[in-house]
Amino acid sequence: MNRREFLTLSSITAAFTAATGAQEKTSGKAGKVDDDTAVSYITETEKKIRLVGDYDVCVLGGSCTGVFAAVRAAQSGARVALVEKQNAFGGVATSGLVNVWHSLQDTEGKQTIIGGLTKEIIDRLQNIGAATGKSHYILNTEELKIELDKLVMEHHVTPFLHTFYAAACMEGSRVKAVFIENKDGRQAIRAKVFVDATGDGDLARDAGIPFNIRDGLQPPTTCAKISSLPKGFAGLVAKYRNEFGLVEDRGWGGPIPGAPNGMQMCAYTHVFNTVASDARQLTAAEIEGRRQIRATMDIARKYGGDENKPFLGSLASYIGIRETRSFKANYVLTEKDVLYGKRFPDAIANGSYHVDVHDPVKGGFIFKNLNGTTVTVAPGGTTNGRWREATTENPTFYQIPFSTMVNGRVDNVIMAGRMISTDRGAFGGIRVMVNLNQVGEAAGVAAALSVSENKTVSNIDIQNLRGQLSKLGAVII
Ligand SMILES: Cc1cc2nc3c(=O)[nH]c(=O)nc-3n(C[C@H](O)[C@H](O)[C@H](O)COP(=O)(O)OP(=O)(O)OC[C@H]3O[C@@H](n4cnc5c(N)ncnc54)[C@H](O)[C@@H]3O)c2cc1C
Repeated sequence: MNRREFLTLSSITAAFTAATGAQEKTSGKAGKVDDDTAVSYITETEKKIRLVGDYDVCVLGGSCTGVFAAVRAAQSGARVALVEKQNAFGGVATSGLVNVWHSLQDTEGKQTIIGGLTKEIIDRLQNIGAATGKSHYILNTEELKIELDKLVMEHHVTPFLHTFYAAACMEGSRVKAVFIENKDGRQAIRAKVFVDATGDGDLARDAGIPFNIRDGLQPPTTCAKISSLPKGFAGLVAKYRNEFGLVEDRGWGGPIPGAPNGMQMCAYTHVFNTVASDARQLTAAEIEGRRQIRATMDIARKYGGDENKPFLGSLASYIGIRETRSFKANYVLTEKDVLYGKRFPDAIANGSYHVDVHDPVKGGFIFKNLNGTTVTVAPGGTTNGRWREATTENPTFYQIPFSTMVNGRVDNVIMAGRMISTDRGAFGGIRVMVNLNQVGEAAGVAAALSVSENKTVSNIDIQNLRGQLSKLGAVII
């Protein structure tokens, strides 16, 4: 197969555009189509939507961030609904196959800075042999799915799986209800406070919280579980990538606890130039991501020797999305805040994972550490350097303030997950799961407090929030 035979990302996008254009015109026969410009519209007939629930707190998106938000809200006395579009909870960790949780300690390994539900889930998984590690944890994320189900049910959260958040019903500066779609059609859920844990911030966007999509987004990756890989697989991919239509890049792979035949979690490629919150680009990226997995396996088949023929155990249910919309909250966390370990009176999370930015064009990644060093992992190799002069007074962890999760314009929406308000560098650090898990827990407690204190989410009592989180087992510093 040569390069010309591959579907390019742009050709897939173009095919999609043509297809959806045709579909709109077809369905237009049954309704009013406004077709006088290049873009066509159809007016949806007004109809009554069934209300399927009235809750204190409704969490949209059921990654660990969303599940932890829902559980903490329930433990704080709220009646909670949790809406997830996939068939399982866990987001990128489960449906995306990403199975690494980083350290719960500061950078020197001396102080525990993360506890709460992250620690509880690690303990539960370790009890059944489904997690390994002490300061860097590797999870069997299929088992994580089951553990998250249990957590949700134990805390009497009402789950809605296979359910997509579709739109918001606004009343002034409040979200009154959300419209959801599932096998029963379009329905509505009413709640006093909403937590947006959709990653992309779908509700935050509809509620009118301003956002931007940065230039040079970190590219997405389709992950796979592959067994019987030849030794030096990464090197083979690097050497033969051109022959199989893969551009210059660097990725990684790692073990899965207890998996047979050396099965690995593989994240060796990227789909560059993708805005994954754009439906057309997301479709194209899914197809391209899977093609890339096949290409890496073809390399292993051709050049990996006869004794080891790779076996594709599973493909991620969806492409792993690193970065899309970044929202503007009451505070924007900066790279400087992270790298210099700034302390905040409204801190709700602590992190020690370095700033890690995947190169949007060339592949590879750059790490900036809190001790002033940098590591650049590029297609050609790894180099070490410094981003600032050496000093003896290095911070050993950084903090995430609650003010990065709420915007005073909208009274009852809390953002939790990778959409919170950061610059590009800060995002590179806070985006990992052990950090966002804490953001989820804080969102849940804050949502319950907003209900019980009868205050907007920007005006809740922060000391109450920090105190309640601490009582529930979070490490609050
Ligand atoms: C390939 C890859 C490798 C990574 N490696 C690591 C790593 O090794 N360690 C680490 O800690 N982090 C890693 N990260 C980063 C980390 O996984 C993500 O930043 C983090 O999972 C984001 O969490 P989230 O809760 O914001 O979003 P997500 O995990 O994306 O969760 C969003 C959830 O919302 C649901 N959802 C979205 N839209 C809707 C909707 N409209 N209606 C209903 N549900 C919806 C989704 O299905 C999903 O369950 C990696 C990321 C990628 C992509």
